[in-house]
Amino acid sequence: MAIEMMEYANNSDNILEVYNLKKYYPISKFVLGKSRSYVKAVDDVSFSIKRGTTMGLVGESGCGKTTVGRTILRLHEVTDGKVFFEGRDLSKIPPARLRKMRPQMQMIFQDPYSSLSPRMPIGEIIGEAVKEHKIVPKSEYRAYILKVMRDCGLQPHFYYRYPHEFSGGQRQRISIARAVALKPKFIICDEPLSALDVSIQAQIINLMKDLQEQYGYTYLFISHDLSVVEYLSDTIGVMYLGSMMEMGDKKKIFANPMHPYTKALLSAVPVSNPDVKMNRIILEGDIPSPVNPPSGCKFRTRCPNAMPICAEKAPVFKEYEENHKVACHLYSQD
Ligand code: SF4
Repeated sequence: MAIEMMEYANNSDNILEVYNLKKYYPISKFVLGKSRSYVKAVDDVSFSIKRGTTMGLVGESGCGKTTVGRTILRLHEVTDGKVFFEGRDLSKIPPARLRKMRPQMQMIFQDPYSSLSPRMPIGEIIGEAVKEHKIVPKSEYRAYILKVMRDCGLQPHFYYRYPHEFSGGQRQRISIARAVALKPKFIICDEPLSALDVSIQAQIINLMKDLQEQYGYTYLFISHDLSVVEYLSDTIGVMYLGSMMEMGDKKKIFANPMHPYTKALLSAVPVSNPDVKMNRIILEGDIPSPVNPPSGCKFRTRCPNAMPICAEKAPVFKEYEENHKVACHLYSQD
């Protein structure tokens, strides 16, 4: 599924460009200093994100989408491939310089409670890295933190309260405030809604949309929930077993899903009209092990359309209409 690097290179509209990204974790016996088997958590993934837009990354749990996010930020080292942020190759940036760039690339985590220190009041949680990176002059610090809190729907008197005094939704607002206080350009949101009630999810989605409109953030929004991704995203990538199966403009993916896996995921999205009958596609079997993925197409063991060629050859990740790519033998591979 390798794509040509020139396809995206030097496009200044893109804040992020990822080429043939791989993240393998060694798991068993080392022979002559080398591991003999690996978990291929991310296996040759390429995409780009335009400034000020949102890319949704979806797939079942364990498909590698969170690892993509963490590897982009170099929270995990890249096994192979390239990640360019604003045209700079992140793998070549020395650690000290990368630390300086950290405020520009932030991450919001799934579980806001465990990511917030229970011993610090929220004003300090939000401001800790602001001080460290000298985001604003000392004299403006407190006013700045209060403004960020206001932007994120947090009352000024929350400043001295502790995380355990807040609900799940408020804690996620604190996590968002901590990220945006650093004036980032790019934010990876790793399942930020999955621990929240549905009614609260809508409030957090609206907050993220408002902040994006106001400050022009670029989001990589990782989720297993296509209905959430539909509302927030401009483009969507669908991952399965470490690889990208389908990717493109949101409207095209929803109007014309091409990959059998995307069709199955979409068939599970609830519809608001009670007169519309849902034709849910149930995928048989379990997700295979990423240590030993199926030959050819990785999805073939669960695909209702699998053909003999699917076991022999991995399909090419190909563009079938503008900004709509798919990896599947059901479509011409020429
Ligand atoms: Fe199914 Fe074959 Fe397409 Fe894979 S390549 S999704 S097995 S039809």
